[in-house]
Formats: sequence, structure tokens, C-alpha cells
Amino acid sequence: MSMGLEDLYREVIMDHYRSPHHRGRVDGATGDVEMLNPTCGDEVRVSFRVEGGRIADVAFDGRGCSISMASASMMTDAVVGKTVEEARGLIAAFRELMQGGAPSEELGDLVALQGVAKFPVRIKCATLPWTTLEKGLTGDMDGEGRPRMG
Ligand code: ZN
Repeated sequence: MSMGLEDLYREVIMDHYRSPHHRGRVDGATGDVEMLNPTCGDEVRVSFRVEGGRIADVAFDGRGCSISMASASMMTDAVVGKTVEEARGLIAAFRELMQGGAPSEELGDLVALQGVAKFPVRIKCATLPWTTLEKGLTGDMDGEGRPRMG
């Protein structure tokens, strides 16, 4: 990877960190999960609303390092409007990227985080928002995106 590309990736990450997208809380959320990365002290809360099997709205809140916050911001951009199944596919593709795999096309701008895979201690920073979303999609919802009772 040339220095030019690394600089571009760093700039993408810092842009999302300084001016995060979809920051806050979703109205009428069907999923709302908070998780921590104790290694770094990152805290991420992801809320979303699924309508007709699609992620109609998603937002994140929390605090942490530039990697965790930028990853959360980029994730919300990537999954909004996607079906739950497509979102699951993105979660898997992103995890693969963090394990050193080649970036799949669906990841788009998320390829900017590829360099994190070289720093094992930071991988959990990058995957925290994704794991949080995944927990919300699987743990607390039924197939139609309604909160599971009990
Ligand atoms: Zn972190």
C-alpha cells in the first residue's frame, strides 16, 4: 500500500471521528444495545428501527478512540436502508476484513479501516460497533424486527 492511500484512509477515519454520521438515538427503536471494549475503554450504543425486514434507521452514541467512533459512523452509513440479511452479510465481511481478509466490494468506504487489521490490539475497537449491532439484530428481535418479549 502506498503512503498516499494510507494518508487517504487516515483522512476518511478522522473525518468520521470529527463529524460522525447518524450520531444519537433512533426514535421508536426496535433494537437498542450498548457494549464496551474494556481493553481501550470504548463504549458504543447502537439503536435501530427495523421495518419490513429493512433497517429503516440506525444511530450510534458513545465515546471512545477514533477507530471505534469512526467505525461506528461508517457502519451506520453502510447498513441504513439495508435488509437485516444484507446487514448480517456486511457484519461478516467487515469481520473478515479485520482478520486480514481481502475487502469485498460491498464494504465500500469501510476499506479505509483495513489497516487496523495490522494492529491486533485495535481490532476490537473497530469491531465493537458491529458486534453491538449484531447483538441487537439477533438477540433482541424476532424475524420481523419486533422486540422479543421475555
Ligand atoms: Zn478503541
